[in-house]
Amino acid sequence: MNQAQSIPIHRSNDNSIGHRGKAGAFGTTFGDHMFSQDFDGDQGWSEAGIHPLNGIRLHPAASVLHYGQEIFEGLKAYRRADGEVCLFRAIENCRRFNRSAARMAMPEVDENFHLQALCELVALDKDWVPSEPGSSLYLRPAMIATSPRLGLAASTQYKHFIISSPVAAYFGDGHSPLSVLVSDHHRRAVKGGVGEAKTGGNYAASLQVSEAASRNGFDQVLWLDAIEGKYIEEVGAMNICFVYDNEKIVTPALSGSILEGITRDSILKLAPHLGLYIEESRLAITEVLDDIDSGRITEVFGCGTAAVVSPVGTLTYKGEAHTVNNNMPGRVTRLIHREITNIQYGEVDDPYGWITLVK
Ligand SMILES: *Cc1c(COP(=O)(O)O)cnc(C)c1O
Repeated sequence: MNQAQSIPIHRSNDNSIGHRGKAGAFGTTFGDHMFSQDFDGDQGWSEAGIHPLNGIRLHPAASVLHYGQEIFEGLKAYRRADGEVCLFRAIENCRRFNRSAARMAMPEVDENFHLQALCELVALDKDWVPSEPGSSLYLRPAMIATSPRLGLAASTQYKHFIISSPVAAYFGDGHSPLSVLVSDHHRRAVKGGVGEAKTGGNYAASLQVSEAASRNGFDQVLWLDAIEGKYIEEVGAMNICFVYDNEKIVTPALSGSILEGITRDSILKLAPHLGLYIEESRLAITEVLDDIDSGRITEVFGCGTAAVVSPVGTLTYKGEAHTVNNNMPGRVTRLIHREITNIQYGEVDDPYGWITLVK
């Protein structure tokens, strides 16, 4: 539809480049520019452009403010040692954006045009891509329902935008493994619901539980399935992997309520080439805890774009803490982290065609 369209660019007049490319606390510093376009039921998408980052004017009755019709994505631009900037599997984020859109009764965005918009925004704000090891420019595409109407129905107007934020390495060598609380009563998402979609409500629904966990000294919450309260789904806003006997990575099979992570998929594709076995299956929490206690499970880690992998040191369920690998990051966790970041930062070849170079 709006494929191969050229995107008008209105540059910022702010030439104070001193603050560029410096990462603050996650998501608190923003690139100079943003992309946006608007959708109207009659005309489709229009007004695509890149312009200085600014506020969005909304009618107070805009549907997103009342009924939460919203989706988002998260991906990163990486600066390589040779100075080139690239994206990792960005087309997959554009595809998932459309799957989330379909679930939330929102219009799709041509995936190639979406990728073009990401690349042009990053090209314009290239100075914002930091160069410290492990740092990156986080990219946040989102779509919100803007029709000014209180009646409950899918909006006919939408805004799609992309903003950026320089972020530091999330998982340094000194990073201590996560202490995780297994949520016994609250659920993140239910099969048939919207857990598969990256939509704001899922995250709003998790905050009370994660804030309470944090007050009790936990870093993250592990979510169980909502029907039986028995099977492991995700940890925080990450997928989760268990390493058996130092050689097999087991991750919960997609259940309809698990977000299909691109990092998760990358691990499933890479691991067999690293001499590791993989398995997607239903994992009961009680069996997993037994396998941690017996030492059959040698490592546990969360995976997602923000940290790539994040080792889990303890899982606490019904008041009892179970310690993994003496609360140390393990070999497989570090191997996966290194392999994926080496591809992202261009340290090794890209045999899977996962890299898009930003011109
Ligand atoms: C985004 C997200 C993930 C990780 O997805 P990636 O594509 O690997 O970043 C996992 N779980 C939830 C709930 C998420 O929102």
